[in-house]
Amino acid sequence: MSYVDEVIDLIVKQNPDEPEFHQAVKEVLESLRVVIEANEEQFRKDALLERLVNPERQFKFRVPWVDDAGQVHVNTGYRVQFNSAIGPYKGGLRFHPSVNIGIIKFLGFEQIFKNSLTGLPIGGGKGGSDFDPKGKSDREVMAFCQSFMTELYKYIGADTDIPAGDIGVGAREVGYLFGQYKRLSDLYEGVLTGKGLSFGGSLARTEATGYGLLYFTQEMLKCNGIDIAGKTCAVSGAGNVAIYAIEKAQQLGAKPVTCSDSTGWIYDPEGIDVALLKEVKEVKRARLTEYAAARPSAEYHEGKGVWTVDVDLALPCATQNELDLEDAKNLVANNVIAVAEGANMPTTLEATKYLQENGILFAPGKASNAGGVATSALEMAQNSQRVPWTFEEVDAKLQTIMVNIFHNADDAAKRYGFEGDYVVGANIAGFEKVVDAMNAQGIV
Ligand code: NDP
Repeated sequence: MSYVDEVIDLIVKQNPDEPEFHQAVKEVLESLRVVIEANEEQFRKDALLERLVNPERQFKFRVPWVDDAGQVHVNTGYRVQFNSAIGPYKGGLRFHPSVNIGIIKFLGFEQIFKNSLTGLPIGGGKGGSDFDPKGKSDREVMAFCQSFMTELYKYIGADTDIPAGDIGVGAREVGYLFGQYKRLSDLYEGVLTGKGLSFGGSLARTEATGYGLLYFTQEMLKCNGIDIAGKTCAVSGAGNVAIYAIEKAQQLGAKPVTCSDSTGWIYDPEGIDVALLKEVKEVKRARLTEYAAARPSAEYHEGKGVWTVDVDLALPCATQNELDLEDAKNLVANNVIAVAEGANMPTTLEATKYLQENGILFAPGKASNAGGVATSALEMAQNSQRVPWTFEEVDAKLQTIMVNIFHNADDAAKRYGFEGDYVVGANIAGFEKVVDAMNAQGIV
């Protein structure tokens, strides 16, 4: 049996009930097969893949907190410190009822390669909790965040592990988490990114993942002789990534016509009104029915459906496995040109394969959504220097980083004879740097 297959089998056996983690490992190792097989004897001797797929360290902890009625609740907290070969662990915190150790491990594993691709010195990690901030009062969210940080603060630090936001963790949660870290450690340091601008946050961090997705997509289209201006887009999600993807798409002359949340979706043929969407989601924290109520051109539909709309570009920006084979078939039937992932692993393995086989340009999230973590690393740099940069400086660096990520992935794919396969290219480019650093640092 080949080394790749052996390690995939091992992971499935050693980590039962973690299907998302299996999926992420399979996707990465399958696409690295050509590199691994060329070095199989040495990699096997060094147990390189076993070291890569096993986190350096992982924590699971109890998070007790009291609601407004005086009832005590207990949630579970996680932090997985996956790989520190190229820098301190870096990756977001997700608060969502679906969170479990398998989800955090899949995200942490992907994060290693994503962070490597940015060209910045950051290792891979991820964390979170099964706590659901939806419907909770600000005081309840604060109580939860303080309890979560009371345990987490022992394991993180500006030079050790620097968490950030993800699903369910935005500026409000990062603020409460930072306050509690400072109180417990007595350190005013850049231990979290995505902070508010008044206490060490970076301009353009809020916009970075969505904007970065569009900079990547624009470059990918350009290198394939296609102009993004005038293209219609289907976007899923209505959170941080989706909102700023929609905003930048409009700035580049494209026309996003959909967005969605976990209960329904909007089709707005006039183009999404991004100011209204921000008001509904960022200010009121309301459902998309409020968007439809305020916008005569918009249709609201219950459930799932953005991938049935006839568009040129599809930008999944909500959550994992939200674009399946049936969705991919709809997109191909509607002659979509490109699918670019804003979320982490939103496209199933079967759907990705189908899209690529049908000649659709496909941008994998670990490359195309890396703008968020890249800008987080720029926030760390500003915190260390104690000097804030302007929006324009950060945005210009973000653009350069995204264009470089595209070309690194493109070049790596070409080098191994997979021209145009940006999944393979991104995995190879991310992997090569991590392996080089791991080899140089010995068996640790
Ligand atoms: P938010 O919490 O801001 O928004 C998530 C959006 O997706 C919401 O509209 C939410 O709807 C919807 N959603 C979440 N879970 C589901 C589900 N199970 N089914 C349907 N819809 C769902 O998160 P972000 O925008 O920050 O993150 C979105 C994705 O992008 C995630 O995969 C995240 O890992 C990834 N990502 C985020 C980065 C960042 O900088 N924020 C960086 C890189 C990747 P509802 O409000 O109804 O729950």
